[in-house]
Amino acid sequence: MGQPSIVSQMSEKVNSRSGKSYLPTIGIECHVQLSTKTKLFSEVDNDARGKSPNSCVSPVDYGLPGMLPRLNKEAAYYAVRAGLALNAKINLESRFDRKHYFYPDLPKGYQITQMFHPIIGEGFVELPDGTKIRIEHAHLEEDAGKLSHENGYSLVDLNRAGTPLVEIVSQPDIHSAEHARDYCKELWRLMTYAEVTFGDLYNGNMRFDVNISVAEEGATELGTRAEVKNLNSFRSVERAAKYEIERQIKLIENGEAVKQETRGWSDASGETTAQRSKEMAQDYRYMPEPDVPPVRLSKEVVEVERAKLPKMPADYRELFGGLIATDTLEVLLDYPLLMQKLAEVADNSGTGAVKIANLFSSVLLAEENASLLNDELPSREQLLKLVEMLEENQLSSTGGKEVFLKFFDPEMHYKNTETIAKELGVVQENDLAALEAIVDSMLAKPETKKAQDDYRAGQEKVLGFLVGQVMKESRGKANPSSVQEILRKKLQ
Ligand code: MN
Repeated sequence: MGQPSIVSQMSEKVNSRSGKSYLPTIGIECHVQLSTKTKLFSEVDNDARGKSPNSCVSPVDYGLPGMLPRLNKEAAYYAVRAGLALNAKINLESRFDRKHYFYPDLPKGYQITQMFHPIIGEGFVELPDGTKIRIEHAHLEEDAGKLSHENGYSLVDLNRAGTPLVEIVSQPDIHSAEHARDYCKELWRLMTYAEVTFGDLYNGNMRFDVNISVAEEGATELGTRAEVKNLNSFRSVERAAKYEIERQIKLIENGEAVKQETRGWSDASGETTAQRSKEMAQDYRYMPEPDVPPVRLSKEVVEVERAKLPKMPADYRELFGGLIATDTLEVLLDYPLLMQKLAEVADNSGTGAVKIANLFSSVLLAEENASLLNDELPSREQLLKLVEMLEENQLSSTGGKEVFLKFFDPEMHYKNTETIAKELGVVQENDLAALEAIVDSMLAKPETKKAQDDYRAGQEKVLGFLVGQVMKESRGKANPSSVQEILRKKLQ
């Protein structure tokens, strides 16, 4: 791992109505909530899901006078893992700073962050199409609380105050709304695979700030940028970027200036709107945080975290590329647990993994089965046996799907595949002697006499009827292609 030799220079020009070409330039900052057991500087539960407001708060999180923050080592280890997932340099010494600003959900009046000496240095993210986006750095910091405004009141909930965040800052290497979306999605995958976050976008576990500017093609300087803050879905990142690119081009074409400002995004109206001007540089009065000593990591600790990293999306692309269809693989990559299961099955048989991948995408990810994703996945043994039965034609593909669905029935969790298939009555009869006996008894029936004569007289399609009779006789368990073969021989 190291720096990419070539950063994608693929230009994604946008042509305006006047016929000029513009190049959008996008950089993204992403805040990732780490799923550590306790908060960044206090020993309070970091997981407030389902708990009442202000029930997971310590004097440190309230910023009470005399409180002393104490770094949660686990958060530093998580940051190391996040950094390794970003192919980044891990800084063995990093430091915390105070960033001062007043906000009701930040009672201390400052945020403890890493402005000057971040824990994660330069790295890169590779998108599914091979484009590399460089990471400038990523740092550890604490989250603020949450405000909600109801009936004329503003309510403060500090459960989230002090939650550890890793803020990932990209270089402005992104040049289209689609790549902005792909980059955010890949970040989500990297962070969830590295198991440093719950990755619950709906609840703001990852939030994206998107900086966008446009410049006329050939310009030597970037245009003035606007920042769209606090996006929490890939779709809103793509839509907001697209909207902003068009808005800025329109301004330029009308001879107006793009203002440097922070803008908000409304999913409902599909527009960004100005929130506050950024023309004056804010002075946060950064100063070294005196209460938290520098973070010093040993090389051994980094290696321990590296060893904890499970297979990452890139590993799976290497393992299954060319085997599983790219579209299917990219859909399945959104489900780390499914990928882990596929890798388990692939240890023994590459083609088996393809069969299971297809069952995952066609059955498990079908809309009507969405609830199954919350259930326990079938065991490796169950899946391997299923692959074997499919390969040996003991199961048809329809029968295979039925058995696969049955795996999710709680009563079936510990049953083996063969038992389930037998109980469902979908095992195909492949015993040639047994099949022959069924064929013989069918051919002996007077009502099939005419069909047999027709077939011998050259009416090929009658064979389908006769196969059907055998299938009926076997209650659907006969393997149709074997039956056909036996029939042809007998009717010669
Ligand atoms: Mn931040």
